[in-house]
Amino acid sequence: MQELPLQLVTQMIADRRTIHKRPELGWTEFETTYFIAKRLEKLQIEFQLGGDFLDRASVHGRDEQEVRTAIQRALEHGVPKTFIKKTQGYTGVAGIFDTGRPGPTIAIRADIDAVPVQESQDEAHESVMGGYCSEIPMVMHSCGHDAHTAILLAVAEWIVENQDNLCGKFKFVFQPSEEGVRGGLAVANGGFLDDADVLLCFHIGTKCKLGEVGICEKGFLATSKLNVTFEGVPAHAGSNPEAGKSALLAACNAATLISGIPRHSKGLTRVCVGKLIAGESRNVIPAHAAMEIETRGETGELDQYMVNHVCRIVNSAAEAFDVKARIETVGSAVNLETDHEISVRLQKIAEQVESVERVAYYNDIAASEDCTWLIKRVRDRGGKAGYFLFGCNHHGHHKTDFTIQDEVSLPVGLRMLIQYLAERCSG
Ligand SMILES: [Zn+2]
Repeated sequence: MQELPLQLVTQMIADRRTIHKRPELGWTEFETTYFIAKRLEKLQIEFQLGGDFLDRASVHGRDEQEVRTAIQRALEHGVPKTFIKKTQGYTGVAGIFDTGRPGPTIAIRADIDAVPVQESQDEAHESVMGGYCSEIPMVMHSCGHDAHTAILLAVAEWIVENQDNLCGKFKFVFQPSEEGVRGGLAVANGGFLDDADVLLCFHIGTKCKLGEVGICEKGFLATSKLNVTFEGVPAHAGSNPEAGKSALLAACNAATLISGIPRHSKGLTRVCVGKLIAGESRNVIPAHAAMEIETRGETGELDQYMVNHVCRIVNSAAEAFDVKARIETVGSAVNLETDHEISVRLQKIAEQVESVERVAYYNDIAASEDCTWLIKRVRDRGGKAGYFLFGCNHHGHHKTDFTIQDEVSLPVGLRMLIQYLAERCSG
């Protein structure tokens, strides 16, 4: 097993805490992007910023107003204007390090965004005790992407320090906007990973407790996130109701009908109308309604089956109430499919890590992850991919008291990755 230099681990924990303090939502990660870029620069690793490596036509769910506000906040927090300009308004970093010796191209992906959750101020909460609680109201790294970012930075540093013993090329994807599965497709379609022989993706926590490593080969569902709006005609509800066209009634009917879409016999399917806001006031025929809907399926076809039904119902409800409907896709992911050969390698490595007591396959997660777009892109071009989880004792992702025991948990993720690289790319 590769030794983990103490300095590398110390730096990784400090990085995680620095990032934890300044969490940013998807597509607004300007401070985080700057932090990563500065480090890669220091390590003399070549990199591109979001504006250069993302396919803009595939960007989902990016709000211009939110981006502008975030840029302002980043400027006030010391990110130089020249740097913001270089991003062209798009977050994320893609790094390349070439050892100059023939060998495989290995890519690793970490997501960098946070969640719209207010962090717990409880005295016993890990980050309150450590003095690195989120400084941004209603935003928190409550999914552990701060840990992912810090680990990948540590891997990059390890590669630079050990370059004389390594061969091939390394690619680092610091992906923006994983939450809401909004950023993955833009990274994939940007083509940065098209020459990767292997892509490794990972996540802290989920079903794994501290001391546990999980390998995933399938189980993340394909998903589509849809925003639906209905546009009606307002009218006074007492004096001339016949002149009104109710967007609220169209939306309510769509919501109940959508919940009745027959589930498919070929595999898991899901649908959720998670949000419905409609109406202006008590005595006005409601002219506006907005819904947030998601579908999931065990395969892309099963997800599409659910999406087709949702679209048909939305359009039919609009017609029934004589209002206009608009459907916008604001996020998507395909289902997970990785390569057994990589899984076995990851499993063997995990079994050698001293602090890991249990290694198991988790193929029934039933959540979604948009690194699946990156994995699909690499595999479609003949590359291979692997996905692993490493544990922490959390109280639930996306929760106000999410916690990860970084000093014990993060080294496991780091060790898994550098051991893989040491075995596959020793020069
Ligand atoms: Zn996550």
